[in-house]
Amino acid sequence: MSVFAALQGLPSLDALVSGAIPAVVAITAWKAPCGRRLSSSLSAASLMVLAATAVNVSGTTEAHFLFFIMVPVVALYEDWAPIATASVIVVAHERVLGFFAPGHLYNHPAATAAPLQWTPFLSGLFLAICLTSTLHWRIHEHARTEERLLLDRLARQALHDPLTGLANRTLLHERLSQAVAASAAGTQPLLVFCIDIDGFKPVNDSHGHAAGDRLLAELGRRLQACIRAGDTAARTGGDEFTLLLPAAGTDTAGPMARRIMEAIAAPVHVAGTELKVTASIGIAIGSGLEDPEELLERADKAMYSAKHAGRERYFIHGTAITPGDQGSLRVHPDHARAWARYTRSLRAEIDTAKTKGTLPEQTRGPETARRTLESLLRAIDHLHPGPHHAELTLPHGTALEEFIFHHDLVQNWAEALVTQKILTQRMPATATQFWTELRQTLTPSQPPTGPGRGNRPVIETFPLS
Ligand code: GH3
Ligand code: MG
Repeated sequence: MSVFAALQGLPSLDALVSGAIPAVVAITAWKAPCGRRLSSSLSAASLMVLAATAVNVSGTTEAHFLFFIMVPVVALYEDWAPIATASVIVVAHERVLGFFAPGHLYNHPAATAAPLQWTPFLSGLFLAICLTSTLHWRIHEHARTEERLLLDRLARQALHDPLTGLANRTLLHERLSQAVAASAAGTQPLLVFCIDIDGFKPVNDSHGHAAGDRLLAELGRRLQACIRAGDTAARTGGDEFTLLLPAAGTDTAGPMARRIMEAIAAPVHVAGTELKVTASIGIAIGSGLEDPEELLERADKAMYSAKHAGRERYFIHGTAITPGDQGSLRVHPDHARAWARYTRSLRAEIDTAKTKGTLPEQTRGPETARRTLESLLRAIDHLHPGPHHAELTLPHGTALEEFIFHHDLVQNWAEALVTQKILTQRMPATATQFWTELRQTLTPSQPPTGPGRGNRPVIETFPLS
């Protein structure tokens, strides 16, 4: 602008100032930390001051078109503030200069003679252009907003369960994959809760499907209220929900499961009826090394263990222990270790026999008994060796009872196979002592009853491999 002004014959200081003013405003708009709205308004002001200076310096009517070019540029900000700033500057320029120095603004003799008639005309024309540009931007903005809302709605429908509004399986899998990757990169494990409502079918049967739906929606809301921002609550089946807690400590598992059970067990009022249900929960603890599918499967298995153990309880996969409900036994560590050694070497011998074909492959025990054995062996590994008695943490009552029942069968079976010279190892005396003490923790009022017990061939209940 300064060069143009100098070429138009303005004194050099005036020429310099005419370029410096819009430049200073533009630099302020660009550099000052003043937010989008103020900087776009300053930028609009700079453009309009530049156009006004060009009009004054050139003294030609054609220069007015600069204003009309600037308006669509300013409209690109899509904000009221810059458009209003531009309008005020231009209208003020036209009215003030047109009134006091019409010769600077118009080169038409009629306009110079009657500026009061021409100024409103030109200002009105300019404002009409402003209005058209603004309308144009508003129409586009409206269309874009509608489009965004529609896309958001479609994305929501694709990723959420319509009844409860919780995440669906697709979104859960997406979040689970991200959580597994984050857990692998960090140190915090992630928790997956599989929750199935106990006895939900009878609610449908006695109160109708609509009441069942309302109950599910309320349970979904309660589950959502149990978790923090960053956790995910999903409905993964009819009456099955899954919670994903990324970066949660393992010690959160128990308290969280109890909170969920309380939330579900609180009565729900549906159409004047009070409905009460409970939940069985399976928990998988992921370290980031597992496949997301594997974690879901573990939580699912633990949930089924909780169902089979009598419902309205929670199981943590891999422990077969219900925290908070476990007992302990004072044992001689060396005896317990002797039993653990014997059990492990018996298992190795059985595996070898299976590979050789002297034992059939399908000798596999129930999952819960196998997991209980693993947790017991781990607990024994943690005992300090030595002559002093120590407290051994025991698996949960039902799991322990089931395990002892199956393991007794296995031991009788192994003894028989030793007699037949298929296996070689007998239980050492110290190991027998530990096993006897462990068996005695079951009171006589706890006979080995329950599904699948009692009359199965021994070979089908082998729990070691
Ligand atoms: P369990 O204690 O073993 O979990 O048995 P349950 O009675 O809860 O039954 P189960 O979990 O095996 O089956 C869930 C039932 O939930 C089956 C179906 O009748 C019902 N269900 C599935 N989807 C919906 C739904 O969208 N709305 C309603 N109202 N009921 C549903
Ligand atoms: Mg159910």
